[in-house]
Amino acid sequence: MSSKPTFNCIHWFRHGLRLSDMPSLYQAAKVCQKIYPIFIFDGFTAGLKQAGFNRTRYLLDCLADLDTQFKSFGGRLICFHGNCVQILESLIKKWSITHISFEQDPEPIWKERDDLVKQLANSLGVEIIEKISHTLWDPEKVIDMNGGEAPSNYEMFCHTVNVIGQPDRPLPKPDFTQLKTIFPLDDYCEDTAGVPSSPLVLGVKMESEKQINQVWFGGETISMELLADRLSLEKSAFKVGDYLPTQSTPDITITDKSLSPALRHGCLSVRKFYWDLHDLYESIFGNSVKPRIVGQLIWREFFYTMSVNNPCYGQMANNPVCLQIKWKQDSAALEAWSTGKTGYPFIDAAMRQLIFEGWIHHAVRNAVACFLTRGDLWLSWEHGLKVFLKYLIDADWSVCAGNWMWVSSSAFDTILQSDACISPIMYGRWLEPTAPIEVQKEANCIIGVDYPEPIINHDVAFKTNQKLMESVKNVFLDHRYQSMSNFKHIPNRYLVLWLKHYGI
Ligand SMILES: Cc1cc2nc3c(=O)[nH]c(=O)nc-3n(C[C@H](O)[C@H](O)[C@H](O)COP(=O)(O)OP(=O)(O)OC[C@H]3O[C@@H](n4cnc5c(N)ncnc54)[C@H](O)[C@@H]3O)c2cc1C
Repeated sequence: MSSKPTFNCIHWFRHGLRLSDMPSLYQAAKVCQKIYPIFIFDGFTAGLKQAGFNRTRYLLDCLADLDTQFKSFGGRLICFHGNCVQILESLIKKWSITHISFEQDPEPIWKERDDLVKQLANSLGVEIIEKISHTLWDPEKVIDMNGGEAPSNYEMFCHTVNVIGQPDRPLPKPDFTQLKTIFPLDDYCEDTAGVPSSPLVLGVKMESEKQINQVWFGGETISMELLADRLSLEKSAFKVGDYLPTQSTPDITITDKSLSPALRHGCLSVRKFYWDLHDLYESIFGNSVKPRIVGQLIWREFFYTMSVNNPCYGQMANNPVCLQIKWKQDSAALEAWSTGKTGYPFIDAAMRQLIFEGWIHHAVRNAVACFLTRGDLWLSWEHGLKVFLKYLIDADWSVCAGNWMWVSSSAFDTILQSDACISPIMYGRWLEPTAPIEVQKEANCIIGVDYPEPIINHDVAFKTNQKLMESVKNVFLDHRYQSMSNFKHIPNRYLVLWLKHYGI
């Protein structure tokens, strides 16, 4: 009598660092008897190429949380260091692997890696279980539905996904005990197979001593607690007729209500956040028409979809959606901005918070991005993207590049807002008033003595930049809108949207 064949699966974590609502793992647990959960430090996966200390530490927290969860089922998360294809090839042979499961990484920067792994699997007769769960909708489906091109503005995007319909509801964690799944404990690479205890083990050093004080902690377990806190905040807001309170009433010092780092690393499922918000709203107001309670999540989808077929989305060169603005070169100004020494307290505090803690509020991101680009320094958004990708713990290639192009008026054409600028003085004072001289004395930090004078005169710089932006707009209009007689109406309409989008 022939025995039933056993199916052995590697579940390969990259982003999507959770067990709940993970359709690829769910499917693997249904089909296969043995599951080997792994993560590969190849120097790129999960953004490790650019990541600084805080972001790497957040990733390691997420992996440690997965390891703890697998240990409760008698398994572990096994870590490897090296080239993904070579490691997977040797594991397929060593563990008699029949399946490899993973969450789709939709950004084009991961395509080459994943194509090579798919080729390898194909050549060895291994089945791939790849599922979409990092985004609410399949970006390719949105593009197909929009006639083969990514919807180029938010309204078009909303229209397209409305036609597609609601995203699927989240799945529970697989019931590994019920399914009798085995997580074999393997002795492969015993010394290095555990989750690294610190970024230092991976050669990533602290950029500032202040990073010793960890503000953000990663992992599915803690993210579920954060989600519960966030939902109770939303509930209070819904009750007084508000929504998205972290945007509408920015608190730039209390940062722990943000879920963007958890969404980026996938320790929180975007579908869970989406549906929990919807269900909460309905539990209070019934089936009435909802305001845009998940509007910000849709921006995330929009930027993913815009980037999915554009590998040059994170740069100016060869990027079809990006205007080729002639930015200045000024390494001293860039250094002052990057290290928080511009002489504008609001901008500098923000850049230092970014370096020390790894997260800054959306309103503050807008202010520092505007200052670097079209507001004051007239430097390329590419520099800003690089700095953000290093320090932000929620650094997300598509979302970050999309927002940088947006704020710098480099893309999404109707937003060439040369008239609108975030003042690094007034906006900062509105969000967080400047300390009076007595407070400066008490803190031993007198502006102009212990703290630099402004590196640029904002009023003068902005007037010059406004003219430059006008000329960019004119060149752009000549090319793109020669035949549109009613273009004059567009900027104001989009200005309102733009300000609203950024919670201003
Ligand atoms: C220059 C610049 C760079 C940015 N880089 C990133 C980045 O690398 N990663 C990132 O997740 N967000 C980025 N953002 C968007 C935004 O600042 C953060 O997502 C937001 O601060 C997270 O706070 P929250 O979780 O309270 O957001 P909420 O208002 O609660 O929104 C819920 C979720 O929606 C998504 N979201 C919110 N705002 C945006 C937006 N403008 N575009 C796309 N998605 C959004 C995030 O996943 C967020 O967690 C950037 C914004 C700017 C101006």
